[in-house]
Amino acid sequence: MRIENPRLYDALCDLQVDYRPRQCLADWTSLGVGGTTDLLIVENPARLPELISLLRQEGIPWRLLGGGTNLLVAEGELPGVVLQLSSREAGVEFHAQCVRVAAAANLGRMMMECARQNLGGLEGLAGVPGTIGGALRMNAGAYGAQIGQFVRLVRVFRCTTNRIETLDGSQILFAYRQSSFAPDDILLAAELQLLERPYEEILASIKMCNERRRATQPVHEKTAGCIFKNPPDYSAGKLIDELRLKGHRVGGAVVSERHANFFVNRYAATADDFFRLIELVRERVRQAFGVVLEEEIIVWKHRL
Ligand SMILES: Cc1cc2nc3c(=O)[nH]c(=O)nc-3n(C[C@H](O)[C@H](O)[C@H](O)COP(=O)(O)OP(=O)(O)OC[C@H]3O[C@@H](n4cnc5c(N)ncnc54)[C@H](O)[C@@H]3O)c2cc1C
Repeated sequence: MRIENPRLYDALCDLQVDYRPRQCLADWTSLGVGGTTDLLIVENPARLPELISLLRQEGIPWRLLGGGTNLLVAEGELPGVVLQLSSREAGVEFHAQCVRVAAAANLGRMMMECARQNLGGLEGLAGVPGTIGGALRMNAGAYGAQIGQFVRLVRVFRCTTNRIETLDGSQILFAYRQSSFAPDDILLAAELQLLERPYEEILASIKMCNERRRATQPVHEKTAGCIFKNPPDYSAGKLIDELRLKGHRVGGAVVSERHANFFVNRYAATADDFFRLIELVRERVRQAFGVVLEEEIIVWKHRL
């Protein structure tokens, strides 16, 4: 969607928004597919209440982009604009065993800063790309660690109240790849309570997780992580593998030979290639095992 009203450009500038017209979301997502829209980078989250009110008044729908590592975006001109929190001042602060971190901060970089303070617990998440905001929303997890289990506080802009609020960890529910935030909540910062652990020990665990990932996942290809959630008592990857679908290709989208639940953009794939491959795999698994796989990735289609 294009913002056509020139009066709005000045208003966005006053609200400390870095306005980037006609961005191709293939360039902003790890999967490397997706259409175009205007991108609004929010330099000062304190101005969000005014920004969201303005967009509401103008009838402009929006979606929120973190690091774009868990997204499959449809092709063509997208309805609505995309907001992203600026990572320019996304630093971390330490208070005893707690780390306060901006939602726009990079998860991996924060983990390394925590390690230098002898604070660990998140090592399993080593190698998960993206931001803190995206990780909290998705309750990112791997190798026995999930970010939700460390959350003490989250600062969030709530569209329902048009205010910035602070939620206690006990007010938030985290489950397997989901959280209880409202769909239009914009997470701004979090305080995580970590575990005291010697730097060398944390580093050794991180190294082990990275090696495991490199051995089992297509870490050098364009992906969005696991496509499907694991159904209860099953591994989605194993079900797909049992059907010998590794290497199966639709257009430029391929089921990774390394990990059957990772689909890779190998031959200049389009979003439609991925949609078709997802449906094909889901149907084959349903027919063979009677299990309906649910997407783990977030899909942005034309309907908001
Ligand atoms: C190679 C690879 C490996 C991966 N391995 C794992 C893994 O082991 N475990 C795992 O859980 N995931 C994994 N992922 C998926 C992905 O990295 C995580 O889900 C990550 O936490 C998403 O963060 P992001 O900032 O990129 O979010 P995005 O992809 O940008 O967004 C994901 C969702 O979060 C929302 N969101 C983003 N920021 C905010 C915010 N500030 N406030 C509110 N909502 C927000 C978006 O609107 C969207 O709905 C992997 C991905 C890749 C590419």
